This record gives sequence, C-alpha cells and structure tokens, in this order.
Amino acid sequence: MVQLVHTIKAVRDAVADARRRGLKAGLVPTMGALHDGHGSLIEAARRECGYVVVSIFVNPLQFGPTEDYDRYPRTLERDVAYCGEKGADLVFAPEVREMYPSPSLTFVSVEKITDTLCGASRPGHFRGVATVVSKLFNIVLPDVAYFGQKDAQQAAVIKRMVSDLNFPLTVAVVPTFREPDGLAMSSRNRYLSKEDRQAALVLYRSLQGAMSLLEHGERRPDVIRSYLRSTIEAEPRARLDYADVVDPETMQPVTEIEGDVLLVVAAYFGEARLIDNMLFSLPVR
Ligand code: AMP
Repeated sequence: MVQLVHTIKAVRDAVADARRRGLKAGLVPTMGALHDGHGSLIEAARRECGYVVVSIFVNPLQFGPTEDYDRYPRTLERDVAYCGEKGADLVFAPEVREMYPSPSLTFVSVEKITDTLCGASRPGHFRGVATVVSKLFNIVLPDVAYFGQKDAQQAAVIKRMVSDLNFPLTVAVVPTFREPDGLAMSSRNRYLSKEDRQAALVLYRSLQGAMSLLEHGERRPDVIRSYLRSTIEAEPRARLDYADVVDPETMQPVTEIEGDVLLVVAAYFGEARLIDNMLFSLPVR
C-alpha cells in the first residue's frame, strides 16, 4: 500500500525507518499530473531500490511570472493511486508553505549549462529547479534519484550540481517515454487542442529526420540545425523556440559531430511549450 504524507518530518521518519530495515531509498521528483513517462521512472526506482519515494510538488520557484504555475494540472488523488499501481512506497506531496515557510534567501544556481536552450528561454527556471531538488535531496536523503531524459538539460544540471556539491547519491537518467505515435509524454500535452496534438508530432519527426541524416553520414552541425529548424517552421501551428545540436553535458552548441551529441528542440503549440531531444553517438576516432 502506498502511503501519502505532506510534511517533511513524516517523510524523514518514513525513510529513516526504511533505512533501518536495510532498504535502499530511491526518489522520483515530479510535479504531478502523472503519466507513463513518470511511470517509467517509478518502475526503474522499483527495480533498483527497496524503498521508493515519489515527490509531487508544483514548485513556484521554477515558473516565470508569465508561465503556467496557476493552471498547471493538479491531480493528486489520481497521482497517488497511480504511484500505488507502479509500486511506490511513499508519496510526499507538501504544500508550498511546508517547502517555503518563509521567502527563501538561499538558492542553488548552476552556471553555464543553464545559459542556453530552456535556460535562455526561461530565466530563473533552473535556479528554481536546482534549489527545490537540493531541498528534496536534503529532506529525503535518497541513495538514487531518478530523472527523465525528456528534460535533458535538467538532467545535466542536476548531475553537475550533485557532482559540484558532493550530494551523497547517484543520479539515474531514464529514457524518454513516448506515445505510440512518437510524441514525448508530458503533463503539458493535456493543454493541446486536437489540432495542436497532431501538429506537435513535428518535434518527433524533426528529430527522427535529423537522426536519419546523421546515420547516413551527415557530419555538419549546421546542416542538422537547419533541418530541425525548417522542419518545425514548416508546421504552421508550431512556433519555434529553439532547435540545436549541443554537447549533452555542457549544453553548448557543438562545432563538430563527434562522440555524443544531443539534438534538442522546443516549440509552442498554442499556449503549450513542448520540448524533445534525441542522443546521437559516434565513436571518437
Ligand atoms: P515533471 O513532473 O514534468 O517535473 O517531470 C518529473 C520527472 O519526470 C522529470 O525527471 C522528467 O524528466 C520526467 N519525465 C517527464 N516526462 C517524461 C517522459 N516522457 N519520459 C521520461 N521521463 C519523463
């Protein structure tokens, strides 16, 4: 049976108890409105850890003033049932005042990796993410924390933060889980009209096309960038945010295709801003 707690004290007591029983603790941080992408993170945690905690917290600190904080979907009851189905042991769903009893004066900010892509489009976003994830790490004290490849820049930021600040845990990154037609699952997909839901497939199509160019030997990053950009711009319902080929650790544009490169795209469909990415690996000569 999955247990639902709302306080820091309750989650600490529950994890301490699990640890006394010799169990390894896994944490899956989420903002709720859970879907099978989150489910694949919970399943990975279930396979690897004796005690699985899912946090559900829509973190105000990571939303810009004009973003969707107020209307972000909140479906706690369903989410808790879903966590139960996926085999989680504990859901930690704090209120904002539990996480931020007074306005914070302390923040965690990862530099450089956050200058590009979503960091450039959403100022302050990754500072909000790094700060709340640090707080969750200090509250839950997990052995392993699970993040999705869907948010590749976020995963890179968290990995770097864990390494730079010596958090005593391992970061696991789980592959992107997709709808049968290829659209990356996202809580924000529910904002899409029927027409935009269809149009949003252009993100997956652009990445697949670019991967195919790379697989057929194309090695000019700018050709790949133009391909991604023009494919997305050809969809009238899409408003391109970015399309790039970057280093998967630094998130900076690459000048050469060598080793691992990450194809990244972001676009608006109506009010919904969707992102996606694919990794291409070429053995270094
Ligand atoms: P969110 O609730 O959107 O903050 O996401 C919580 C975690 O789930 C993050 O680590 C995301 O990267 C991950 N996630 C979201 N969508 C997917 C997906 N389609 N596949 C894999 N992981 C995902």
